[in-house]
Amino acid sequence: MELVKHWINGSEVASASGRKGDVFNPALGTISKQVDFADIATINSAVEDAKRAFTLWSQTSLTKRVQILFAFRHLLNSKKEELAAIITSEHGKVLSDALGEVTRGLEVVEFACGIPHLLKGGYSEGVSQGVDVYSIRQPLGVCAIISPFNFPAMVPMWFFPIAIAAGNTVIIKPSEKDPSATNFIAKLWKEAGLPDGVFNVIHGDKVAVDRLLEHPDIASLSFVGSTSIAKYVYENGTKNGKRVQALGGAKNHMLVLPDADLDLTADSAINAGFGSAGERCMAISAVVVVEPVGDQLVEKIRERMKKLKTGDGTKGSDMGPLVTKVHRDKVASYVDAGVKEGATLVEDGRNATVDGATEGFWLGPTLFDHVQPSMSIYKDEIFGPVLSVIRVKSYEEGLNLINSHQYGNGTAIFTNDGGAARKFQNEVLVGMVGINVPIPVPVAYYSFGGWKSSLFGDSHAHGTEGVHFFTRGKVVTSRWLDPSHGGINLGFPQN
Ligand code: NAD
Repeated sequence: MELVKHWINGSEVASASGRKGDVFNPALGTISKQVDFADIATINSAVEDAKRAFTLWSQTSLTKRVQILFAFRHLLNSKKEELAAIITSEHGKVLSDALGEVTRGLEVVEFACGIPHLLKGGYSEGVSQGVDVYSIRQPLGVCAIISPFNFPAMVPMWFFPIAIAAGNTVIIKPSEKDPSATNFIAKLWKEAGLPDGVFNVIHGDKVAVDRLLEHPDIASLSFVGSTSIAKYVYENGTKNGKRVQALGGAKNHMLVLPDADLDLTADSAINAGFGSAGERCMAISAVVVVEPVGDQLVEKIRERMKKLKTGDGTKGSDMGPLVTKVHRDKVASYVDAGVKEGATLVEDGRNATVDGATEGFWLGPTLFDHVQPSMSIYKDEIFGPVLSVIRVKSYEEGLNLINSHQYGNGTAIFTNDGGAARKFQNEVLVGMVGINVPIPVPVAYYSFGGWKSSLFGDSHAHGTEGVHFFTRGKVVTSRWLDPSHGGINLGFPQN
């Protein structure tokens, strides 16, 4: 069976740990590969190589770095179908969605191609007699990136293009559930001319993450995953003196006002609720509808759900399987819980007809109505194709519900009332807001990140916050001595 190995200093390496994980094809329900789990010695050697490469790469001219970024962008663009197929085979999402993920990642590479402009500092001439001040931004060193299963290409690309463009070297620890995409990307970097040791991939589990958290030569950690682990990474990384941004889980609400176009709203609820089988951190999982339009909206969503095709992502389905059997069973257990807790099950994905192998990790689109805020299907992040409708009497009640939830990643309001939308964008306690846009993922030159339990740390991903995260500022005060600077003066200069 194929073994997915680590990528260190420009070549594939297996560790001596003997520990491995299974990688599944979720549409077939079979083990397709195994992935090597790094031991401490393997991680140490990767960090050592990345540290050595930093000395050279950080001193490489901006012009040269940008040429390599452009070459990488060209290769990634020309091979994006190949990468999408790898993603579908391990994650299960449909091919068009996998391609969409690569395209969103490419946007960050394109943003990073503008690094010479983004790194420009300020210059103030003559702040005092013959004294000039200027600011520069410099790279941090070896940056670790720990990513989740749901976007095996896009999420690492939120970080590494900017980190590398700014002169850092990186060690990526992808999810062990779909590890191959990152190795594919590593080979493209090599082909693009990136020096060995600048882009490294370590596969593994908690052992690898814990070593990265404590290794003295790791300068920063960019983590994306569930909230409990994001908090753990943030607390332990910062305790060890590292710069950390840790993006966590989500429960994204769509607030529907009675004046909204209910057909367009129902389309959006379907796309944002069931795209990628609900395994998106920006998926809509709670539709909060202001009465009296609840019945109408639920009926429109239900009609559309009946037309969705669940099946093998390579064969033209709308929605693929869930990533593993364990995850599929966990999501199905939430459907059981919703029924037990008294929500109205409008569509039951447990009985869905599927176009795919019987052993695949299937769960069809599921819709609950009359969900109460006390129910586990409302409180918890389910991360599957389960949409809950909560009915409220007013805008204020809906807003309070959203603001009381522990997560604050994304949200959306659907309305034709510009004043209401403006009030919502101002009052809602969530990091990314859509106005008639159900999945408001910011473009690469803005920054991505949530509030509350959806993000630990001060920096969001990519955009100018990404450039700041991967660099540190230095301010230089300079003068070229001439006789006018002579004399003893123990005070601050006054002019
Ligand atoms: P996860 O937390 O299980 O895993 C994320 C990473 O942490 C993986 O690389 C994994 O190997 C590692 N990990 C797992 N257990 C660990 C442990 N005990 N100690 C240290 N590291 C550990 O998340 P997942 O299931 O891969 O991804 C889904 C989650 O990610 C959801 O909660 C989703 O909302 C979140 N997510 C958030 C965003 C965002 O931008 N906020 C984006 C994508 C995904």
